[in-house]
Amino acid sequence: MSAAREETEASETLTAPAEDYLKAIYAIGKGSGPAATSEIAQRLAIAPASVSGMVQRLADQGLLAYERYHGVKLTESGRRAALRTLRRHRVIEAYLSQALGYPWDRVHDEAERLEHAASDELVDRMAATIGEPEVDPHGAPIPTRDGAVDETEYTSLAQLGVGVSGVVVRVSDEDPEMLRYLAELSVVPGKRITVKARAPYDGPITLSIGRHELSIGPALAANVLIAPLADRAGRRG
Ligand SMILES: [Zn+2]
Repeated sequence: MSAAREETEASETLTAPAEDYLKAIYAIGKGSGPAATSEIAQRLAIAPASVSGMVQRLADQGLLAYERYHGVKLTESGRRAALRTLRRHRVIEAYLSQALGYPWDRVHDEAERLEHAASDELVDRMAATIGEPEVDPHGAPIPTRDGAVDETEYTSLAQLGVGVSGVVVRVSDEDPEMLRYLAELSVVPGKRITVKARAPYDGPITLSIGRHELSIGPALAANVLIAPLADRAGRRG
């Protein structure tokens, strides 16, 4: 048996917590950067003291490498395992939404459970059934079977300057209440928005969406990612 084959089998039998760690480290390091123990603990909502044991096990399996002073980083096989879990999560969300009519605020929790149980074959068939979507219902990119993924970093709405227009590309998927509120406001992927005004000292941000104007707070705006459009007036935020 080749080394590559053994490695594939090792990462196919990862436990659900191990998959969640790899996903968390991927998210913190934005794909390839380091993650500190405290950040992993915070993201997984567990005590920092309980992180080090799992991190050590994942390092022993060749999925993580220690970074001096910076915690850990995914190795190439750790990154592949994280992307495989992300693919399962996001395809399941898209399938629940498109094939089964789930609302976008209810797919994440289902996907959190099913991502550890669904086989890659089931996920591939789900993806094929709904036409191989490139993004999930919240706009997050779906990694391909081969582990390719769009890692473009977008600006958050909280950082967008006054007068700048952009298209909503992605919203954070974890808080159902927030998703329902964003849907009510029409702040959903594909919508074009323009920042009209920003109150100082982290005050509300006034936006226009179509013919509507609305204000949202910076904490909510930080969960909305935007692809800025070229600014014809030449103004800068
Ligand atoms: Zn999700």
